[in-house]
Amino acid sequence: MLLIRALIFDFDGLILDTEGPIYHSWLEVYEAHGVALPFELWVKTVGSSNQAFHPQHHLEAQLGRPLAQEVIDRRVDRRVELVLAQPLLPGVAGLVDEARAARLKVGVASSSSRDWVNGHLGRLGLLDRCDCIRCRDDVEHVKPEPDLYLAVIDCLGVPATEAVAIEDSPNGIAAAKRAGLLCVAIPNPITAGLDLGAADLRLGSLAEVTLQQLLDRLSDNP
Ligand SMILES: [Mg+2]
Repeated sequence: MLLIRALIFDFDGLILDTEGPIYHSWLEVYEAHGVALPFELWVKTVGSSNQAFHPQHHLEAQLGRPLAQEVIDRRVDRRVELVLAQPLLPGVAGLVDEARAARLKVGVASSSSRDWVNGHLGRLGLLDRCDCIRCRDDVEHVKPEPDLYLAVIDCLGVPATEAVAIEDSPNGIAAAKRAGLLCVAIPNPITAGLDLGAADLRLGSLAEVTLQQLLDRLSDNP
């Protein structure tokens, strides 16, 4: 029987489907310039940072000139517009409530900035329901390195073996497993076709299970 004392959620693509909006905001810019945006390059950024693939620098290299500041600003506005239209992903709020009721700790580990994550969590009513949030501002290396998960379990005072990470991307799953956590994969349309096989369990959505069912399924998949 597993002793689990903490659930640690990824943010982008797991709590909120920001991955689709971010991708589509760049795809629109690429299409407007008649340049292809290769999906296999794009997915390197998912769950990590622009260090793996920088969409602006890549497009500028293809064009042989810098993008106009107006284009860059409009892309950021478009991303925000598309993200704000997204609802919380199914089952997230319910699982957070169940975890808190069961006296589990709730954490968030995100490769994005603190402003981005805290801003959206606050808007969605989740900020006060998290015991600890660690973002790229808090660590030297983002996912797939384990730093973010190690920082959250340290903050929560829970050993890695008693924490479950919930992730949507290969980079996030790799980070959780390198930190020694159990990991549940919940793919979204951007990550559904990627290799999520390093996770201990894969579900279609968090709405498919109660907290107890989630823990039972993890126990069944040692
Ligand atoms: Mg993610």
